[in-house]
Amino acid sequence: MLKIAIDGPAGSGKSTISKIIATKLGIEYIDTGAMYRAITLKAIQLGIDIDDESQYHFLESTSLDICNGRFIMDGVDVSDEIRSVEVTNAVSTPSKMAKVREYLVEYQQKISNSKNCIMDGRDIGTTVLPDANVKIYLTASSDARARRRYDELKAKGEECDLQKIKEDIEQRDYQDMHRDISPLKQADDAVLVDSSDMGIDEVVEAIKTVINKAK
Ligand code: C5P
Repeated sequence: MLKIAIDGPAGSGKSTISKIIATKLGIEYIDTGAMYRAITLKAIQLGIDIDDESQYHFLESTSLDICNGRFIMDGVDVSDEIRSVEVTNAVSTPSKMAKVREYLVEYQQKISNSKNCIMDGRDIGTTVLPDANVKIYLTASSDARARRRYDELKAKGEECDLQKIKEDIEQRDYQDMHRDISPLKQADDAVLVDSSDMGIDEVVEAIKTVINKAK
């Protein structure tokens, strides 16, 4: 099986780049952030205490699926809801819990053993796919990442504040990098790509070069 791992902080362009590479190579794109987001959404919907790990027993009865690029939880398309500000600001809490991570990592490993894939997240190269054929750590300055997010929201006609976006991104990075279990960090054998001053095409080319070298 071909396994490509892409890790990096929020807004570094992992999902955009991974989708393009998946299409070019004819392999599956697995967005693990969407899974943590879906569990967060469900915790909010159920009204549990989001900080209390013992209340996450709903995991076992939750079904997650990807269908035509849409993310389905318990048979419902939640692709848009999982991107809400409420979910985005809460997602680092369930993501630091052992129970949630064990459940999702097992699921991710199962998928990766059934099809060729490119998987993006925070712990793919370090924990989920330590044996990946290719590992990339895709990053960019928080200024560049905030600016991209700002431009995206503006293009959708949404009101937003650049400084606030940057603060939220930096806060999520901090939480993801400083948790006890599987914190975000570059795997020893991952190739670093800093996209701060690169366009999408340049990043895709850089990553394709890494993949070709590994073949
Ligand atoms: O990639 P995305 O920004 O959608 O991820 C949302 C959140 O899910 C991250 O900020 C992180 O807390 C969590 N996550 C994680 N491990 C992964 C993927 C995402 O902890 N492999």
